[in-house]
Amino acid sequence: MDEKTKLLHAGPDRDPHTGASSIPIHQVSTYHQEDPVKLGKYDYGRGDNPTRYALEEFVANMEGGSAGFAFASGVAAIGSVLLLFQPGDHIIVTEDVYGGTYRLLTKLFARWGLEVTFVDMADPDKVADAITESTKAVFVETPSNPILKIIDLERIGRLAKDKGLVSIIDNTFMTPYLQKPLAFGFDIVIHSATKFLGGHSDLIAGVVVVEDEKLARKLKSMQNMFGAILGPQDSWLVLRGIKTLSARMEAQQKSAAELADWLSLQPQIEKVYYPTLKGHPGREIHLRQSSGGGAVVSFELVDGEAAQGFLKAVKLPLVAVSLGGVESILSYPATMSHAAMTREERLARGITDGLVRLSVGLEGVDDLREDLRQALCLTDS
Ligand SMILES: *Cc1c(COP(=O)(O)O)cnc(C)c1O
Repeated sequence: MDEKTKLLHAGPDRDPHTGASSIPIHQVSTYHQEDPVKLGKYDYGRGDNPTRYALEEFVANMEGGSAGFAFASGVAAIGSVLLLFQPGDHIIVTEDVYGGTYRLLTKLFARWGLEVTFVDMADPDKVADAITESTKAVFVETPSNPILKIIDLERIGRLAKDKGLVSIIDNTFMTPYLQKPLAFGFDIVIHSATKFLGGHSDLIAGVVVVEDEKLARKLKSMQNMFGAILGPQDSWLVLRGIKTLSARMEAQQKSAAELADWLSLQPQIEKVYYPTLKGHPGREIHLRQSSGGGAVVSFELVDGEAAQGFLKAVKLPLVAVSLGGVESILSYPATMSHAAMTREERLARGITDGLVRLSVGLEGVDDLREDLRQALCLTDS
């Protein structure tokens, strides 16, 4: 099935009882049991909800997995996955991982006894070097956030298999429409559905997909025990968002690629990061494992003052935390997504004071370019 068709029909695409064109919002906490001994599939809302289940099945099918789990947020999804490990276990994580993942690992799970090593995974040998006797998992983000470093999924997937490690990937930036990590041997795929899957900057949600049945049982049990579930209203909104994912992603990434090219010609811009931009490190690997560059472009102005002036001068994009919405969103990683890192940790990861991240929306690309141009000219004077 074509990827575009899948986004509409690879899961429950109508109500089985009425034929309604959208899955009903089952606003419910509990279910009547015909047999008090042998309970039905649905017994309590934390464990299962038909609207949530439709979303879980949809995303699982899109990723090519066997089971999906929807959570109250992307970080709730990540946290629930990390709870599969034990105090004393060691996990190797992409160096410039999403700031909230970094905070969860260093501020919460570190206290709980999970050991972490952050590694520049653009060099897979560094991952192999970081493995210790207690290493249980690798956690990957590619393209990474915010400087869009590319990690070789096939090599990391194979290394994890060889060493018996659980391989986990945060696939938020690409979505299953552009990148399917399970096909490279990855075990667990995580999404912040707040971003491209939802797509309209109107909800917070997370999804996890696995292929392996044993992992699926563990995650199902973790989702029910820990209870960080997604409610039926937001499950419905994500289901609705997914219907237009291909149209949004195609249009947004086309504009993003154009703007990345244009930005790299501007004298006020020191560096442009975009996965398919000519000369971007890892571009060939990215083209092998993904079907597009996505809609996020990061770029660097000369210093913090220039970046902050630019952010105050733009008129069209929201200046805000988040990405993946229908409207363009400009973020300032230093004070937003990566505020949990010290300045030294940020700089070591290439997240300078001059760096801004643009999630390109559905506006006309000419209007966006003109807006960026006037904002750059103002900061230049
Ligand atoms: C936003 C984001 C998250 C966290 O998701 P929430 O829904 O905000 O909790 C995790 N990973 C990436 C790459 C993100 O962009």
